[in-house]
Amino acid sequence: MSTIFSGVQPSGEMTIGNYIGAMRRFVTYQDTHNCLFCVVNQHAITVPQKPDELKQSARKLAALYMAIGIDPKKATIFIQSEVRAHAALAWIMTCLSSMGELERMTQYKDKSQQHGKNETIPAGLFVYPPLMAADILLYQTTHVPVGDDQKQHLELTRDLAARFNARYGETFSIPEPLIAKSGARIMSLQTPTKKMSKSDPNNAATIFLLEDLAKTKKKIMRAQTDSDGIVRFDIENKPGISNLMTLRAALTNETMDTMTAAYDGKGYGDFKKDLAEIITETLAPLQEEHKKLMDDPIVDTVLNEGAEKAHALAEQTLKKVEGKMGLSR
Ligand code: ATP
Ligand code: MG
Repeated sequence: MSTIFSGVQPSGEMTIGNYIGAMRRFVTYQDTHNCLFCVVNQHAITVPQKPDELKQSARKLAALYMAIGIDPKKATIFIQSEVRAHAALAWIMTCLSSMGELERMTQYKDKSQQHGKNETIPAGLFVYPPLMAADILLYQTTHVPVGDDQKQHLELTRDLAARFNARYGETFSIPEPLIAKSGARIMSLQTPTKKMSKSDPNNAATIFLLEDLAKTKKKIMRAQTDSDGIVRFDIENKPGISNLMTLRAALTNETMDTMTAAYDGKGYGDFKKDLAEIITETLAPLQEEHKKLMDDPIVDTVLNEGAEKAHALAEQTLKKVEGKMGLSR
């Protein structure tokens, strides 16, 4: 059976981009694949985090995995830092990488540019991709469901796996990305040419999964659009309304043409009001389930068992790797 691995960083509040591009798709694989879903808190510390908030966010994200329908009896849910093999294999993947290929990563370029001219750039941002490669390769993963922004990191993961296999003998499965046909890159509500991100300092740009839905509605009503007022999908010239249409299509399966026809003669206001309603209907039950789980000790039981299962699997790969490299007696 093929194996699925994916992770989300507890680097802030989860967004509707994370949900549509990655998380909600996880649920569809749990009946047919070996699945591991990880709270990648070691990725989150590639930029500074407040310890108490990081701890809270990790638990919150684990509860969210469960609230969206991941069944811990079918899939393994765990926290990255609780399985030591991730950091150990990450070092090996770092040594296998070259400066040049890490410098070409657009996430590194984007995130390091967000640091001011006189600020230092954390080295963790630079070696993020080898850690991600380690996460994936430890479990002999065959498929990785991620948003479109992670495609380049996955290419690097494949290169590193193939490089190791060529140098030391067949060891790793080469993982394939699973990227959604639509909704794989939800854009910022305020700068629709930029990806929606949970670490965006502009709160109005992002729909958070667990936020007060009255706030969500306000953000949608204020989302940046253009002045021609026609609901039509055109990413180049109308990125704002096109992004809202993408969001809606991801939640209702409507086609762009159906939406254009339905709003013929109406303005963006009507479209936005209806979109807010659709999002509310999606998020309200999820929020309710999440609230219940946050008070339930089951989350800790699931994380304990998850870490144990993941540890057993990861150690097998790590031992093999270390043996082949001469990191053993
Ligand atoms: P950060 O700003 O801290 O990097 P993020 O919002 O990019 O946070 P990640 O934890 O880095 O979230 O990514 C988790 C998953 O969500 C990944 O699979 C990623 O590809 C996907 N994802 C992130 N942002 C979007 C988006 N705007 N649209 C679709 N998928 C997304
Ligand atoms: Mg990200």
